[in-house]
Amino acid sequence: MEKKKALFIDRDGTLIVEPPDTFQVDSLDKLEFLPGVFRNLYDIRKMTDYELVIVSNQDGLGKPQYPEEAFRQVQSFMFRAFKNEGVEFDDVLIDRSKEAENKPTRKPGTAMLTGYMTGEYDLASSYVIGDRITDIELAANLGAKGILIGGREREDEVREAGLEGSCALIAEEWDAIATFLLNPGRKSSYRRKTGETDIFVELEIDGEGKAGIETGLNFFDHMLEQVARHSGCNINIKASGDLHVDEHHTIEDTALALGYVFREALGSKRGIDRYGFVLPMDDSLCLAALDLGGRTWLSWEASFKREKIGDMPAEMIPHFFRSFCEQARCNLHINAKGENEHHKAEAIFKAFARALKMAVRKEPFSGDLPSTKGYL
Ligand SMILES: [Mg+2]
Repeated sequence: MEKKKALFIDRDGTLIVEPPDTFQVDSLDKLEFLPGVFRNLYDIRKMTDYELVIVSNQDGLGKPQYPEEAFRQVQSFMFRAFKNEGVEFDDVLIDRSKEAENKPTRKPGTAMLTGYMTGEYDLASSYVIGDRITDIELAANLGAKGILIGGREREDEVREAGLEGSCALIAEEWDAIATFLLNPGRKSSYRRKTGETDIFVELEIDGEGKAGIETGLNFFDHMLEQVARHSGCNINIKASGDLHVDEHHTIEDTALALGYVFREALGSKRGIDRYGFVLPMDDSLCLAALDLGGRTWLSWEASFKREKIGDMPAEMIPHFFRSFCEQARCNLHINAKGENEHHKAEAIFKAFARALKMAVRKEPFSGDLPSTKGYL
C-alpha cells in the first residue's frame, strides 16, 4: 500500500495574518486570512492526497496574557470559514509553551508529530508550510521538505541556516504554493502509433539516469541508454517498428516521441537554465550546444565512414537529432570528429545528454523565465 503524505501547515503568518506587534491573534478583530488561502487549499485538498495538519506554536496559551477562550473563539471562527469553503483539516496540533522553556513539542521540535513518524507516512514526500525559518527546521527534523512563505530575499536566511537542502520552495503567495504542489516532478509520457511504428516513451526529467530501452535495435538502445545516464533523466522507451522494411521509421519516430515528451515535461520552462554545451572526449572531439528556446534548428558537423554502426545506419544518427529538435523545439549544434566510429557516435549521444542535463536544470528558488520575450 502506498504510504500517506501530509502537509504540516503553520497557522499564524501562513493561514492567517500574524499581527506584527503582538504576534498573537486573540480576538476576532485581529483575524485576517492570507490572500488566496481558501481557493488554493481547496484545490490542494481536492486534487492531491495530502492530509492537512495544522502545527502551531501558541506562546503561553492558557496563561492570563493569552486566555483559552480568546484563542478558542478565533480558532472556531477560522475552522468554520475553511469548512464553508470546502477545506477540512485532518489534525490540529498546538504547542502552548514559550521559547525559553525549550520544550521538544515546540517547533522546530517534533515531539507533537511522533504519530507521523512511525513509518506510516512518506515524510520525504510531505511538506511543512510556514513563514518562519523554524518551520523549515521542522521540515529538516522530520525528513520532510519545507515551503517558506516570503519573497526571494529570504533565500539568504535559508542559506545562512544551512537549510537549502530542506527548503523546496520560497513563495510569496498561496497561488505559487498550490502550483508547486499540484505540479510535482517534471514528467511526461506519450504513445505514438502509426501504420509504421508503435512507440511508448516515459520521461522523468529530475531522475537518476535510469533507462529501460527496447527499440529492437541494439546499438540505438545503447545510445539512448547513454542519453538517460548522462542527462540524469529517467527514460523508458518501448518501440516496435517496421524493421523488416528498415531502421528508418523506428529511429525517426522514437526521436519525435522523445522530443515531444521533453517539450511536454518542461512545461512553462520557468526557472530552467535553457542552454547547455560541452566538449568531450578521447580520440573524438564532440561539441554539443543546445538551446531549449522554442525554435527548431540542427547544425550537423560530423560524418561517418561506415554505413552502419552495429545495427544502426549511420545516416540515421543526424536524422535522429533532427527529429528530436523538431518535436522538442530546440536548437542543437553538433560538431564531432574522430577515428573510431562507435566512439564518435557514443560521444555525440553522451555530449547531447550532458548538454540536456545542463539545459533542463531548474533553479529551485527561481520562477524566472530565461528570456526577455516573456515566453519560451
Ligand atoms: Mg507562523
